[in-house]
Amino acid sequence: MNQNGFKQMQINLSGLGCWIAFFGVIWLLGAVGLGWLVRSLAVLVLLIMLAPVLLFLGFRFWLKRSLVQADCPVCTTTLTGIKGTQTQCPNCGTLLKADGEGFHRLQEEGTIDVTAVDVTPDPPSSLPEGEQR
Ligand SMILES: [Zn+2]
Repeated sequence: MNQNGFKQMQINLSGLGCWIAFFGVIWLLGAVGLGWLVRSLAVLVLLIMLAPVLLFLGFRFWLKRSLVQADCPVCTTTLTGIKGTQTQCPNCGTLLKADGEGFHRLQEEGTIDVTAVDVTPDPPSSLPEGEQR
């Protein structure tokens, strides 16, 4: 082996040094009966790397299952909502609840939504109340 080849080998060794140390530690842990630690760590690293992918896939699956796309029963605007949640139609303002089949009004059919706002907290005394003709 000439001088140049020896140098080349040294460079390769220094580059591989961290890997050798890494595998050396793993081998050492395995040798002292801590192979389970290496395996659990590997599983942990794998889980950490796979977690975002699994979360994304799970979220997509959940979204596909619970997303409801149907028409507003009042104004037939196409709405998208999550199953079991309440939403408000952006077109007509009706409060709707999404379920498996579509959107339903929260109020009973035929109920007129009137927000009772008392603009006169004190009834004016000038009005003759109970006066009979
Ligand atoms: Zn509507």
